[in-house]
Amino acid sequence: MPMEANLDALRGRIAAACCRCGRDPSAVRLVAVTKNQPVQSLLRLAGLGVRDIAENRVQEARAKKPALESLPVCWHMVGHLQTNKAREAVRLFDLIHSVDSLRLAREIDVQAKRLGKVQDILLEVHLSGEESKSGIPVPQLAAVLHDVRELTHLRTLGLMGMAPQVADPQQARPYFRRLRELAAGLGLHELSMGMSGDFEAAIEEGATMLRIGRALFA
Ligand SMILES: *Cc1c(COP(=O)(O)O)cnc(C)c1O
Repeated sequence: MPMEANLDALRGRIAAACCRCGRDPSAVRLVAVTKNQPVQSLLRLAGLGVRDIAENRVQEARAKKPALESLPVCWHMVGHLQTNKAREAVRLFDLIHSVDSLRLAREIDVQAKRLGKVQDILLEVHLSGEESKSGIPVPQLAAVLHDVRELTHLRTLGLMGMAPQVADPQQARPYFRRLRELAAGLGLHELSMGMSGDFEAAIEEGATMLRIGRALFA
């Protein structure tokens, strides 16, 4: 299994990208997206020092999480979340990246209050113009954030976004830059952007969390 080698190579590429743009590699978190991976892979990643694990489905996280209970792992939700799964998501995840509507934010707030938790979230922004992608449309973002900031059991740390699928990762760059500028304008610090195909461009545009799947497991 090449996972160890993949992780080494990935860390090297992250360090090199940070070096090119004068960023401190410790300011860029590698979030391993482990959807469809067996729990053994998660355990091995944790053993190799990966501290951030992401899933895109509540049910899958629920099934895997007990096996890592005693390990210092932060759990991230990166997939579309239905309001009827909000309660379970609050129970399972340290950070929910994919808050894509005020309605969902309100439901997470209600459930967090019930569970006595302040839930950390990111707002997912619709960057690409592709119909298939979810996220809050840019023109509505400031108004949604304003209302979300009124909710007492949510803490909005930043923004999450996805560039469209492009042949050349450099073409993803303007989308990442846009997200950075939006976050800066709103006083938000965390930027979840960059996947296996485009994370170097994301780092150079200020990503603080990379969501990486294929580059670890392929
Ligand atoms: C699967 C997934 C990723 C990881 O994508 P790779 O191309 O495998 O690195 C990142 N973000 C989300 C929301 C995903 O569902």
